[in-house]
Amino acid sequence: MIMHPQLQLLVALQDMNEMIREVEEKGPELEGMGFKYAGLDDLRKAHEELEAQIDPRLMSSFKRLVGKFGHAVVPVVGNNCTGCFAQIPPSFVSKTNADRVQKCESCGRFLYWP
Ligand SMILES: [Zn+2]
Repeated sequence: MIMHPQLQLLVALQDMNEMIREVEEKGPELEGMGFKYAGLDDLRKAHEELEAQIDPRLMSSFKRLVGKFGHAVVPVVGNNCTGCFAQIPPSFVSKTNADRVQKCESCGRFLYWP
């Protein structure tokens, strides 16, 4: 699926947020069990580099959405936003990912068509 480059970065950033959260939560535990976990510093550095490539306006919406909902970017499944389950108007769907970063009219989350 072709995605708007900025949207691709937002999805990657969201994935990375989750990885960081997981390492923060489980890292010490894993280390206690004799595992070496992936360097949190490396992840944070990669996160910063990613963030630097994203439009600051998108970034501030992203952060606001993460604070509010936990997830800022959600897939559209069956013409519905999987964040709030509002129906996405057909006019949105035809524009798809490639041309622009689309947001749900109802909850404001960023949308992508998987
Ligand atoms: Zn929504």
